Amino acid sequence: RTVYVNGEYLPETEATVSIFDRGFLMADGVYEVTSVLGGKLIDFAGHLKRLERSLNELDMQKPADFDNLLDIHRELVRVNGIDEGLIYLQVTRGSDGDRDFAFPSADTKPTVVLFTQNKPGLAHSEASKKGNKIISIEDIRWGRRDIKTVQLLYPSMGKMMAKAAGCDDAWMVEDGKVTEGTSNNAYIVKGGKIITRQLSNDILHGITRAAVLRFAKEAQMVVEERSFTIDEAKEADEAFTTSASAFVMPVVEIDGVQMGDGTPGPIAKRLREIYLDESLKTAI
Ligand code: PMP
Repeated sequence: RTVYVNGEYLPETEATVSIFDRGFLMADGVYEVTSVLGGKLIDFAGHLKRLERSLNELDMQKPADFDNLLDIHRELVRVNGIDEGLIYLQVTRGSDGDRDFAFPSADTKPTVVLFTQNKPGLAHSEASKKGNKIISIEDIRWGRRDIKTVQLLYPSMGKMMAKAAGCDDAWMVEDGKVTEGTSNNAYIVKGGKIITRQLSNDILHGITRAAVLRFAKEAQMVVEERSFTIDEAKEADEAFTTSASAFVMPVVEIDGVQMGDGTPGPIAKRLREIYLDESLKTAI
């Protein structure tokens, strides 16, 4: 694989960052993941906008390559021959060559890394046809989940807890209410209504969430943005998640309770189709 590091395209084995990089020492970094379908970037403008917001919220300077990010994404997709897959963009506060809690001086260059993952069959994955089984776990993350930081230890542990329970993923619960999935936004469907938590600092403002809610409204579906309890979820007609890496993913079981007949629900399936069709039209 060819990767991009601080202005250079290199084989992945030759790409390096400092051992003092604050991404490594302090999880002082943000990232974005954009999906690639038919060799094109899905929702790229949304991801770029959220990256800019994450950088602003953390007082991180915009990297010099910021204005060329579209070209860099496209070049990596091209050289790595990605038809279906993902492209990761990692930006950290960099390093001034030592370890310190205080931020380094403002002229310290951010570290910028991009890499691709080839995922043939991503749009029509087996997982999306079967749907996910999920468990619920307590949400013990920090209070600024709206910033897409590289602090992914707890979500990682959540996936391992799900795996240990014979499931695919976990939904996180705070004060009895579902915040979001380990790497996705969470939804339930009840009486034809699509219910998903309102935006706040408590959840990531999913780029896929924004698109899916827009498409749902355009298709005359009813959307309610409010929090819901894990008990309400278990009694819902269907459930699903959204993310750039899995689009709309049906949920067929929550804490051992089967949703409907245990297969992906009609609204989740329809939203997945609409999302794939519509977002391909604006892919770049
Ligand atoms: N919530 C969390 C915690 C996530 O990690 C993600 C995926 N990055 C999402 C929601 C979904 O966001 P998006 O649709 O922008 O991928």
